[in-house]
Amino acid sequence: MMKEQLMKMLEQRKDEMIQIRRHLHEYPELSFEEEKTAQYIADFYAGKDVDVQRNVGNGYGIIVTIKGGKPGKTIGLRADFDALPIHEETDVPFKSKIDGVMHACGHDAHTAYLLVLADCLIQLKDELPGTIKVIHQHAEEVPPGGAKSIVESGLLDDVDAVYGVHFFPTNPAGDVGYHSGYSMAGRTYFKLKIQGVGGHGSSPHLAKDAIVAGAHFVTAIQTVVSRRLNPFDMGVITIGSFDGKGQFNVIKDSVELEGDVRYMTSEVQELIDKEVHRITKGIEAEFGVKCELEYVPDYPPLYNDPEITAEVVAVLQSSTEPEIKSVMEFPMFSGSEDFAYYAAKYPSCFFYIGSKPKGVEKAYFNHHPKWDVDEDALLVAAKAVAEVVCKG
Ligand code: MN
Repeated sequence: MMKEQLMKMLEQRKDEMIQIRRHLHEYPELSFEEEKTAQYIADFYAGKDVDVQRNVGNGYGIIVTIKGGKPGKTIGLRADFDALPIHEETDVPFKSKIDGVMHACGHDAHTAYLLVLADCLIQLKDELPGTIKVIHQHAEEVPPGGAKSIVESGLLDDVDAVYGVHFFPTNPAGDVGYHSGYSMAGRTYFKLKIQGVGGHGSSPHLAKDAIVAGAHFVTAIQTVVSRRLNPFDMGVITIGSFDGKGQFNVIKDSVELEGDVRYMTSEVQELIDKEVHRITKGIEAEFGVKCELEYVPDYPPLYNDPEITAEVVAVLQSSTEPEIKSVMEFPMFSGSEDFAYYAAKYPSCFFYIGSKPKGVEKAYFNHHPKWDVDEDALLVAAKAVAEVVCKG
């Protein structure tokens, strides 16, 4: 009964979702600087019969609590609202008005569909079983991100589950993707400073060559994935920076390397962490140099709870909404997402909404200056998440 009404309301407000998305698209703001976006969201809820908490976590996060009139679960619905330092290169009439800033990851669309869905749920709340906590999250794009601090605020500690979606142009509007278990990669940044002893190029015995020690580190680190990791597990270690510049006849006293680590499980995360530290110690012993390793994990791997994900898949597959055309398994994704912090603490499911623009053969991927979405995907997202809400 409520579901039928909810779906109808969403259909009637599709244009409004598009308008909101276009407004947000014109006025993007960078992570941790989303003051106007947060104000826009707060204004949207002004005068509505809900509890709105602002400045949640380490930025402009907002949590809106919708208490239903019937007993049921407490569930979190999360949409992020930050943009990227990218100069938009599309020709859409609602192109970014802010130089060098663009909603190139669809967070404008995530926020737009969720605002309208939340408002419909507010209007239907006497019929609504349980409680909905709408999480409008700041700063997804830049570590430490907003999610971790929102989780740490404890404001979600009564939730039974958290759900979120992401738009991807790999599939057309109407496709909904899911992946159970570990789904998106975790990531660590590291910086290694090797301090040796400089000297004359003719007298290596009086020096401790930092370049040779650094080169050994680069080679040794290759054996972590090739020799230590179970071949059925996924891991990546990339050294993206090695500052060896010096003089041809001077032995360099110090070098600095920077790297990026990716993994799909916390077991692999721990293994790589341990091995990088072990090899660093080994380089010290082998070359008599001093190593300073800064090893900073940021977003963890995103784990979709298999039970909750199976429920989501079942409810979406049996949906009779014509906009939800196809529900399919997506592969693992090597990008990182701070939704992982909700999923690490609460049973969660983060799933995917096809948003490939119509009439293009190959769409520009997320974070591209020509990124765009098929706005039909807004209603798909709204209805898919509405199905999940109605399942309880
Ligand atoms: Mn994103």
